[in-house]
Amino acid sequence: MSPNSKRNRGEQPILVVSNRLPVTLQRGTSGLERRRSTGGLVSALEPVLSKQGGTWVGWPGMKLRPGESLSESGDPYQMRGVELTDTEVNRYYHGFSNRTLWPLFHCFPERTRFDRRDWETYEEVNARFAEITAEESEETGLIWVHDYQLTRTPLHLRRLAPQARIAFFLHIPFPPYDVFRLLPWARQILRGLLAADLIGFHVSAYASNFLTCVEHILAARVDSASGLVEHGERTVQVGAFPLGIDFELYDSRARHAGPQPGMRDQKIILGVDRLDYTKGIPERIRALERLLELHPEHREKVVLLQLAVPSRGQVAAYQELKREIDELVGRVNGRFATATWSPIRYLYRSVPPEQLAALYRDAQVALVTPLRDGMNLVAKEFAACQVDDPGVLILSRLAGAAESMREALLVNPYSLDGTADALHRALTMQEPERRSRMVALRGRERRYDLNFWLRGFLEAARETRPKLQPATDADFETWLGRFLTGRRLALFLDYDGTVTPLRRHPSEATLSTEMRQALVACAERRDTDVTIVSGRSLADITKIVGISDLAHVGNHGLEFEGPKLEPFRHPDLEHYRERLRDLTTVLETICIPGSWVEEKRGSLTFHYREADETQYESLAREARTLIQKAGFQARDAHCAVEACPPVGWDKGHAVLHVLRATYGPNWSEHVRTIYVGDDETDEDAFHVLSGLGITFRIANVDVLTRASRQLPNVDAVHALLRWLARRRAGGR
Ligand code: UDP
Repeated sequence: MSPNSKRNRGEQPILVVSNRLPVTLQRGTSGLERRRSTGGLVSALEPVLSKQGGTWVGWPGMKLRPGESLSESGDPYQMRGVELTDTEVNRYYHGFSNRTLWPLFHCFPERTRFDRRDWETYEEVNARFAEITAEESEETGLIWVHDYQLTRTPLHLRRLAPQARIAFFLHIPFPPYDVFRLLPWARQILRGLLAADLIGFHVSAYASNFLTCVEHILAARVDSASGLVEHGERTVQVGAFPLGIDFELYDSRARHAGPQPGMRDQKIILGVDRLDYTKGIPERIRALERLLELHPEHREKVVLLQLAVPSRGQVAAYQELKREIDELVGRVNGRFATATWSPIRYLYRSVPPEQLAALYRDAQVALVTPLRDGMNLVAKEFAACQVDDPGVLILSRLAGAAESMREALLVNPYSLDGTADALHRALTMQEPERRSRMVALRGRERRYDLNFWLRGFLEAARETRPKLQPATDADFETWLGRFLTGRRLALFLDYDGTVTPLRRHPSEATLSTEMRQALVACAERRDTDVTIVSGRSLADITKIVGISDLAHVGNHGLEFEGPKLEPFRHPDLEHYRERLRDLTTVLETICIPGSWVEEKRGSLTFHYREADETQYESLAREARTLIQKAGFQARDAHCAVEACPPVGWDKGHAVLHVLRATYGPNWSEHVRTIYVGDDETDEDAFHVLSGLGITFRIANVDVLTRASRQLPNVDAVHALLRWLARRRAGGR
């Protein structure tokens, strides 16, 4: 029986993708041994996979030998390994994931390493995760990608499986715009994530940071109140789904665990963390030192029991931190210890779950003071284990958990005095207050537990939310109102894909009546000049548009004419005419049904839109090779390759030339420029106009554009033109 045949009817299998698989592999004397990972995520997702069937894709942590398999017979779901080389582990995992994204997302820019090779490997590995996932995705209802190691995987997956339902959950914080924008690959990460249908964060502050970044960095349209982002033709949902714990499990462990030696004799302040610089362990030790200075009455009565679980030992920052903590513990203990008491007990190891539950249960205070933490489960586990005399939770305001655990004593972990005050208050708090706080904390964690999180996320992931409403006049007013006030407007519009949808054959791409009216209305304004900028020949574009008041640029800028312009034709064109004819002949030799060559007196286009789709890639490759061999520049377009003479002249040069010729060399002082285009060749104009005007790229959101904003389709361009035609009058 295949693993998936077990699933209930009506429930589709689910594909989980995470950096690590839910098992850890070890090669022992009897071959490959699998140990189940015990983390919260694994325990949350396993029951879902077991019930619905599905596959877990991840890195097994080691290389498998031929004949070795990850899955075992009887597994309720499949596992698919993604193999990584040592270099990839170094650059993708220790490098970009843990030295770049981890510190930056936790707001430690000074600890962040920006290394292009790390980024490139991260990208390659994310693409590989997507390829393997796509192979498994045929029967799947939902693909659920997890965490910061895989932020680019949704984008690669979307390319391979355009119709897939993809959800993403980030288990760490998402930083504020001012921090996130330090990342040289900020746009790529945002685009990677936006390829998902749903992006989940722990708390609303991270979702809101993400939306702000999307708005500022990609200039995408965002509805913050509903958590919606317009991304090309798709609407992406963004939301907060606070992770919970398996409350009953911790509660029951705490009820059944035996007493811990030494815990009853002194008041225990408990710290439990992975050894990580985000956790604020040194600050916590210094806060204890401050407490003992300010309140000597606690000396010989309290002990800070700090458990530090070894983590990421290969990363230098973690080795340094370990040294720092060792020294601090030694210094503070040396300063206050007596013959029978030391203020700090420091354990550098992990403890079994039952023992941890007993520690949580018997501690008077849990001191959870990360400098930044996505959620922090220790705070929640402590509350779940408080089954006896209630203790007090001191929680950093900078942990995601603080958004809901408001009955904790919330502290700023950087303020030693503040934390010392909270410690004093916790150690002297009377039972009624302790109980009131703990009852409320426990009630919430019991209600909003791991299953609640899981159900909420999966429901949201399966729900089809309404699309973001198309851009309105109010949007255009916000983006352009002030920019245009009192100024003349030079409006440049690409043709195919911008003012007309792309058609199978260029001759079919004619202007709709409404678009024509909007263009005419813009052109009729005395404060607006409209220029159509096309890759078509000048003769063709002038004829197909057929509006006399407009200027036209043809052949990607090599020729243009207009009411206020001297006609222009690039002087080198004659020189290339013959070679272009030869190139046409050569390209015709590779034409198959559905592909053809369009000669445009100056440049040419090799089209393959109507050919068999399986031939697209090879046709484009062959065409590019032949074009370059003939000494022309090859540029990819929509199902086409353009051949342009290498004269160092493009749409950007043409637009500048038109602006200078029409308005004089200081044109930018009195004219505002807007350029709208959908194609790679329009990027040259976006580049030239960056900072000088506002540029819009239409549709294809997978590419990295230089445009200042994006619009989803030709309808949005029509709405823009209608608004421009009706806007308040500008300069003459
Ligand atoms: N933990 C553990 N063994 C230990 C101590 C702690 O497995 O010896 C667990 C703890 O129960 C908690 C997790 O480690 O579930 C820490 O999660 P948290 O969200 O607090 O921090 P993270 O390590 O994910 O940054």
